[in-house]
Amino acid sequence: MKFYNTATRKVEEFKPLGDIVKIYTCGPTVYNYAHIGNFASYIYWDLLVRALKANGYNVKRVLNLTDVGHLVSDGDEGEDKLEKGARREGKSAFEVAKMYIDAYMKDFHLLNLTEPDVLARATDYVKDDMEAVDEMTKNGFTYETRDGIYYDTSKFPGYADFARLDLEGLKAGARVDFSDEKHNAADFAVWKFIQPGEKHEMRWDYLGRPGYPGWHLECSTIIHKELGEPIDIHTGGIDHIPVHHTNEIAQTYALNGKPLAKYWLHCDFILIDGQRVSKSLGNTYTLDDLAARGFSPMDYKMWILQGHFQGSRNFTFESLEAAKSRRLNWRNRIALCYQKEIISTGAFDKILEAVNNNLNSAEAFAIIDNSDLSMEDWKKIDELFGLNLINDTPDVEKEVYELIEERAYARAVKDYAVSDEIRDKLAVKGIAIRDTAEKAFWEYI
Ligand SMILES: [Zn+2]
Repeated sequence: MKFYNTATRKVEEFKPLGDIVKIYTCGPTVYNYAHIGNFASYIYWDLLVRALKANGYNVKRVLNLTDVGHLVSDGDEGEDKLEKGARREGKSAFEVAKMYIDAYMKDFHLLNLTEPDVLARATDYVKDDMEAVDEMTKNGFTYETRDGIYYDTSKFPGYADFARLDLEGLKAGARVDFSDEKHNAADFAVWKFIQPGEKHEMRWDYLGRPGYPGWHLECSTIIHKELGEPIDIHTGGIDHIPVHHTNEIAQTYALNGKPLAKYWLHCDFILIDGQRVSKSLGNTYTLDDLAARGFSPMDYKMWILQGHFQGSRNFTFESLEAAKSRRLNWRNRIALCYQKEIISTGAFDKILEAVNNNLNSAEAFAIIDNSDLSMEDWKKIDELFGLNLINDTPDVEKEVYELIEERAYARAVKDYAVSDEIRDKLAVKGIAIRDTAEKAFWEYI
């Protein structure tokens, strides 16, 4: 297998660090419904996990759920997103977190995404966060301001390397009020103090005052506790590179001097009708919105896997319709496997090979389109892509086969009224008949 590694900017052969491949995925901030653009990344990383398993690797994967500390500005300013969600819903921040975690996991399962080995809620690791801040402070990487405990990025010589950051440019562009107590423009809060009178429901006492962990800290802490550094593969979106992942790397360096991950995989964004997904454009479609238009979660998963995780993708309902038709075509090829023997040509090896080349599922799909595939092949394809193809394509009841025979007889004796009646009866069941020189085959409509 090989992957494009953001850390080295090269396609590299995958060599695991140990017996179990350790993977960490930055998960959602659970203050709102996840839209289809959010789920794109989880579909790509599901393929990653499935591909590793298809290659015989044992995988341990951790996914975090951010339920505290992620501020609206993505930096150290603005309201905590969970507090904002709580205000909007008229609920407590903990209730909001629970509600959106449940909604997220429901969609996660509808998309048939592989269950993570550890689902880590940020609020379950606050004690570990405090210990991490203690440790970073002991190692000389932090300083205190009125606002919180900050990470001194000048203490980590490699800070700019991961994202090829221009620290001088960052300094010039920093806002004055924002940086008045910060030593360097890139410094970030690892712990935030709650100011007197400030409303912040999620709070923990640390250093004699109420506060909460900085957003970036949970990932370093959870990785340390659940996987141990360095891990094999860290995944996320390209928007995580300059700040969030850069800061995760910096924190882990301050904690124990270790690199955080060997391979970094980042996916690009989904555009909707050529535009960024945003509330103001009204295009934050959820799986429920797609269902209301007649598309299943698997149709969307199919659409995602037709492209590449590193390419920017443009979602349109026309292209989703095409993905749905392609999936129906594949399902009908499975239906054909119930009705006649299809001899495998060994194409699955080529399909896996395409995926092993930096998760090129688009190329794998083209091979699927153009190969003779047996039921055994389809089983492996379902394992690799998790598209529920076989589950969604059950063999039909005996009664349908009998009706097909009756219809063949009616046609043989030129009783077209009966033949048409049977055809209509089958159509009600969602089944069509395709006549060939050989015989008549049923398929799903
Ligand atoms: Zn993270």
